[in-house]
Amino acid sequence: MRPLTEQEIRTAFVNCTKGEAKRLSVPRGLADRPWEDLDYLGWRDPQAPDRAYLVTELDGRLRAVALRCPRPASWRLRRTMCSVCLATHTGGVSLMVAPKAGKAGQQGNSVGIYICSDLACSLYVRGKKHLDPGARLPESLTLEEKIQRTVTNIAAFVVKVTA
Ligand SMILES: [Zn+2]
Repeated sequence: MRPLTEQEIRTAFVNCTKGEAKRLSVPRGLADRPWEDLDYLGWRDPQAPDRAYLVTELDGRLRAVALRCPRPASWRLRRTMCSVCLATHTGGVSLMVAPKAGKAGQQGNSVGIYICSDLACSLYVRGKKHLDPGARLPESLTLEEKIQRTVTNIAAFVVKVTA
């Protein structure tokens, strides 16, 4: 994806109030992120371990989603598959929950997703971050196809949050 600024990220949130979007923690050093290797930018809130965020581009528009996740201590230790990049790591996949955008969210509706706990799916897909042997099922897809699948999966999630 193209490099984003803090301001762009803050204004792209679809499922929290403007005040929350203004206050939440956006990672420092945005200019140094490996943007060309990212299908989405995801990060955990260093001040609030039960919060995570992701931002991606959907039909040419930036969409950022606020997520809740269990605290590290309660991460399940059984092997779970990330539904975005399809990696399986022990304890490294979390069920995260996003309140839906708009009225549906205010009424308490949310969308859940199993996703890599460090939100680094893009780097796992590209082999830029190490996975344990057996974390990936053998596949005949090319790298390009795997990247496309990651983009499709994250977009489908964001569509569900905004629907
Ligand atoms: Zn993943």
